[in-house]
Amino acid sequence: MKLFDVYPINPIEIVKGDGSYVYDSKGEEYLDLYGGHAVISIGHGHPHYVQRLTDQLNKLGFYSNSIEIPLQKQLAELLGKVSDKKNYQLFLCNSGAEANENALKLASFYNGRKKVIAFKGAFHGRTSLAVSATDNPKIIAPVNETENVVFLPFNDEQALEDAFNQYGEQISSVIIEGIQGVGGIRVATDSFLKKIRSLTTQHDTIFIADSVQCGYGRSGKFYSHDHAVVEADIYSMAKGMGNGFPIGAIAISSKIEPWFGELGTTFGGNHLACVAALAVLETIEKDGLIANAESVGNYLMHELKNFDRVEEIRGRGLMIGIELPEELAQVRKDLLFKNHIFTGEAKPNVIRLLPALNITKIEADRFLEALKERLSTY
Ligand code: PLP
Repeated sequence: MKLFDVYPINPIEIVKGDGSYVYDSKGEEYLDLYGGHAVISIGHGHPHYVQRLTDQLNKLGFYSNSIEIPLQKQLAELLGKVSDKKNYQLFLCNSGAEANENALKLASFYNGRKKVIAFKGAFHGRTSLAVSATDNPKIIAPVNETENVVFLPFNDEQALEDAFNQYGEQISSVIIEGIQGVGGIRVATDSFLKKIRSLTTQHDTIFIADSVQCGYGRSGKFYSHDHAVVEADIYSMAKGMGNGFPIGAIAISSKIEPWFGELGTTFGGNHLACVAALAVLETIEKDGLIANAESVGNYLMHELKNFDRVEEIRGRGLMIGIELPEELAQVRKDLLFKNHIFTGEAKPNVIRLLPALNITKIEADRFLEALKERLSTY
């Protein structure tokens, strides 16, 4: 059998990781400012993480949600504390798409409505409703096409008001990334998020904060929506949650009451996933990683703004977009192959920085020097 060929790949085989560095099969070192797409939150091979997972694996790897799993309660408790959302309820699943799928579905169960408001540039995942709420017709299969999802321009308060005037009580939920990732690192304004909160409250619509990429401390606050000082009804999360172990979740406001069978999963909340997520939260808390994301992020943004040939710098904390002019389209590839630095990309020409939250200023400087070198080369 051969692989189903859907990924354009770089000809590099990464075999080892340590902190913000990864190593290929030839022993070459790379600085990882991509984290396998915002997944590596506490660094590769973090000793506490390895120890926690190893200990658990030696005890029990998996049993289903039909039995008591105290680790889930511990995770809910710690997540509530670190995210400062103690009154929320936790539902565990396996990925970002699944988290959003459950969030959108739960909203519809809650208010019995069908319409979803999403935004231009949004990416919410590839499962049926999540992909329908994703602004990329290429990945929406005919079976997932629906008139239930309405796309509005991002950060346009008037368009949002107009939509509520037009659809009012038909709108089940509004889903928004606090910082659009795939869309090119675009920050939702505080006033736009506040407007969403007030209109959704007014119409008993569910406010879903997609925090799959921008959450978990990356922006310098636990959820990037926290910058606007608003509380969403549901937060979805995944990527940074397990530092590479597949886990996703939704944190659900206490106003939404569950009933048996409403949501469910085979693998979600398994013992290993819970332990991975606990190790991540314990490390974020103990090592002050949200403060580090803010300070190293601010440093990077400040320095990058002095670079001549950069068109725009966007983002918050350690979620940074560097928009380059078209003639510098080669920079990202050269950073990888010539400077051995992994970064992410967004179309058409944005370099995305999504490093581990414990990246040091020295590592940030290594990137700044490499970028300076690249920009002076062309
Ligand atoms: N939501 C956002 C904002 C994302 O960036 C992604 C993935 O890139 C997803 C949802 C989907 O997550 P997953 O790939 O884990 O299904």
